[in-house]
Amino acid sequence: MITFVGAGPGAEDLITVRGQRLLQDADIVVYAGSLVNPGLLSLCREDCQVYNSAKMTLEEVLDVMTEGERERKRVVRLHTGDPCLYGAIREQMDALEAQGIPYEVCPGVSSFCGAAAALGAEYTLPGISQSVVITRMAGRTPVPEKESIASFAAHQATMVVFLSTGMLKELSAELIRGGYPADTPAAIVYKATWPEEKVLRCTVETLEETAREEGVTKTALIVVGRILEGEYERSKLYDPAFTTEFRQASAVPDGDQRKEGQQ
Ligand code: SAH
Repeated sequence: MITFVGAGPGAEDLITVRGQRLLQDADIVVYAGSLVNPGLLSLCREDCQVYNSAKMTLEEVLDVMTEGERERKRVVRLHTGDPCLYGAIREQMDALEAQGIPYEVCPGVSSFCGAAAALGAEYTLPGISQSVVITRMAGRTPVPEKESIASFAAHQATMVVFLSTGMLKELSAELIRGGYPADTPAAIVYKATWPEEKVLRCTVETLEETAREEGVTKTALIVVGRILEGEYERSKLYDPAFTTEFRQASAVPDGDQRKEGQQ
């Protein structure tokens, strides 16, 4: 069996219990060496064969996986964060499917969740934003024109930008062009949950200079939005005046009691 496993954002104890067990049982591990914490490999058995995919092509990764499967070995493909985001797993899964090889996916904690924890942030604040846009600047991988940063910025929803730390000047310009006021709160979270984590708070306009001053050039997420600072409305779910599926209202404001199942 081949399992794609989310390694979590960095800290060794932020892999899931299932992911940990899969690593302990694995005969072969192919890990994304550019971002996965190598400390996780200490969970592997002494005789486990370990490959760093940072130095391999898709074909080489597939060869290791299919050969392992032929020998009935337990293969773990270890991706950073959760494999569903910028993980390049679809092409691996399709190739396995084409050969009739079964696989499973074990989710992980994505770095955008690690960054929220580092910031002490809630991405979805009532009255401010109820949506999170996860995106990136175009790099060697293009981004469809319909998904330009400026077009998302027009919504002024919370935005988490991956893979773009080397393009912060352009990112600022796009965010402002799209409609975020230049003084909208922003943050750069470098290596969220790693021991060397850095949380840099700034504004949409000062992203580039902030990263430069702190020497941050990669492995960071950019978080943008008014959820980072200032006023918001309290939740309906925990409001004493609202009845929910699980709780009866204890106070009724202005005779207007609505029933809310969610926030
Ligand atoms: N699947 C991963 C993302 C892989 S893309 C996930 O779910 O997190 C790689 C990009 O993710 C990096 O360029 C960086 O933008 C971001 N990233 C990964 N780990 C990070 C961390 N611990 N802190 C901040 N950003 C991180």
